[in-house]
Amino acid sequence: MNILEIKDLCKTYIVNKRQNNVLKNVNFTVSEGEMVAVMGPSGSGKSTLLHIIGCIDTFEKGSYKFMDKEISRMNSRQSSFFRNKNVGIVLQDFALIESYSVVENVMLPLYFSKGKFNKKKLREKAITALKAVGLDNLSEKSVHKLSGGQKQRVAIARAIVNNPSLILADEPTGALDTQTSAEIMDLFHKLNEKGHTVIIVTHDLDIANQCDSIIEISDGIIKACNYVNISKN
Ligand code: ADP
Ligand code: MG
Repeated sequence: MNILEIKDLCKTYIVNKRQNNVLKNVNFTVSEGEMVAVMGPSGSGKSTLLHIIGCIDTFEKGSYKFMDKEISRMNSRQSSFFRNKNVGIVLQDFALIESYSVVENVMLPLYFSKGKFNKKKLREKAITALKAVGLDNLSEKSVHKLSGGQKQRVAIARAIVNNPSLILADEPTGALDTQTSAEIMDLFHKLNEKGHTVIIVTHDLDIANQCDSIIEISDGIIKACNYVNISKN
């Protein structure tokens, strides 16, 4: 079954009255449980596409269905709620609150969820997510004292704290050394094995080759969708 279906999707930015067609009739599907890499040169529209999939950006034309629900028909409140419940996003620059502790950062998305939790329950959920990324021993530490790899783990813990079906990551290893990159990729593989669908934007072909399929984007157009790991599909 497809977790998401994107049909003829177009996205345009207008800057200083000039129209920039960033995504041009994009079409693709992602199956439930798939691990997908998105590759392409800088400025080709990868982050924009990821932000649209994560419902933090909108689009003008086309269709985006997530589990058969048409996202473009949702108002912003509905799509925020939908995002919080179903999607975990690891943004390009971690986007953590540096002065907060590790566990406080991971707890943040829980405050926007429906349902009543007391603070103890929220903390327990955050600690569970931190265990999954191997950082529960640093839960009280301030984020600004962490290394790049540790910050990336906190960002991943925050993305999975609501147990989303879809995890999105924008160049999650872009700023990390080879060894730390490999550890972060192991983490994404583990999450994928647990049943999360994963979409990773990357410049690194070695990382893309570890995924089930690779979507190649160039100048806002999908050039190819290649299956790497056919046995899984
Ligand atoms: P990539 O992630 O592949 O490097 P982006 O999706 O960030 O590419 O950007 C694609 C194009 O969209 C670029 O030309 C960029 O300048 C433009 N763009 C991205 N975000 C915005 C924005 N918020 N406002 C205006 N233009 C944008
Ligand atoms: Mg980008």
